[in-house]
Amino acid sequence: MSARLGIIGHPVAHSLSPAIQGAALRAAAVDATYDRWDTPPDDLPARIAALREPDCLGANVTLPHKQAVLPLLDEVAPLAAEIGAVNTIVNDGGRLTGHNTDGGGFVAALEEAGFAPGGKSFLLVGAGGAARGIALALRQAGADALAISNRTPARAEALAGAVGAEAVPLDAPPAPYDCVVNCTSAGMHGSGAEDALPCDPATATPATLIVDIVYAPEETPFLRAAREVGLPVLGGLPMLIHQGALAFELWTGRPAPLDAMREAARTALVGGSP
Ligand code: NDP
Repeated sequence: MSARLGIIGHPVAHSLSPAIQGAALRAAAVDATYDRWDTPPDDLPARIAALREPDCLGANVTLPHKQAVLPLLDEVAPLAAEIGAVNTIVNDGGRLTGHNTDGGGFVAALEEAGFAPGGKSFLLVGAGGAARGIALALRQAGADALAISNRTPARAEALAGAVGAEAVPLDAPPAPYDCVVNCTSAGMHGSGAEDALPCDPATATPATLIVDIVYAPEETPFLRAAREVGLPVLGGLPMLIHQGALAFELWTGRPAPLDAMREAARTALVGGSP
């Protein structure tokens, strides 16, 4: 009997995870399916209970359930508990453990691009769930200084206080930082702020790495503006691939077939229908 995996969210129709994980399972010859498990909030407890069945390896979790699943699990890994959000659940003999691979995926993407975060300074623009996961993973990876700005300054201050960072105004210049990361949804297709820039890359120093965690479009206005002034850039797709790769390894205990996952993500993005 084939094993089961899936993504729990509401809605999940536009998630790229089925394409990425389906390709990974095929490339690694794992006999399992990965489905879209659209789950309205009232159905969440039953959906989580069903993950305990022996043929289920676990699940991914996306909006709006990333926080709500925590009390439904048997255990939550330390980083996920500190973030307060779970994006991956592993079923080990009926016992469910929650993990968060978003921040680890971000750090892996940086390292893959040749940028080791240890000792580096970062400006994170945005103070939502993704910024929180990234800030804590950067701390764990030995980042030196973290600054956080946000459209709603009170949220930047709250997050900065929680992760030992400095809150700075939204118009803070990117110049003193080794890396500037857009952790907002500005620039994303369908966000209503497709042309917005989180800060002006023209005022960054020449070696500053400019990162956008938005992956649709693959080149956001922020990345384009940075590339046009000659700065090194990194888009959000590698983070998406690596958070999926970490989840795959948690479920299967096998190394993730990164090339197959990358190709599937690109195809799904270009095709618009994962
Ligand atoms: P949240 O809803 O938790 O946070 C959204 C953040 O974006 C807040 O800081 C919010 O500011 C800010 N924001 C929203 N709209 C605007 C705007 N028009 N101008 C300026 N700031 C704005 O979302 P997440 O943190 O979960 O996700 C943020 C982005 O990261 C999304 O685009 C998501 O797709 C992407 N992402 C990418 C991942 C990857 O693997 N590449 C993984 C996870 C997320 P305010 O507090 O003022 O509302």
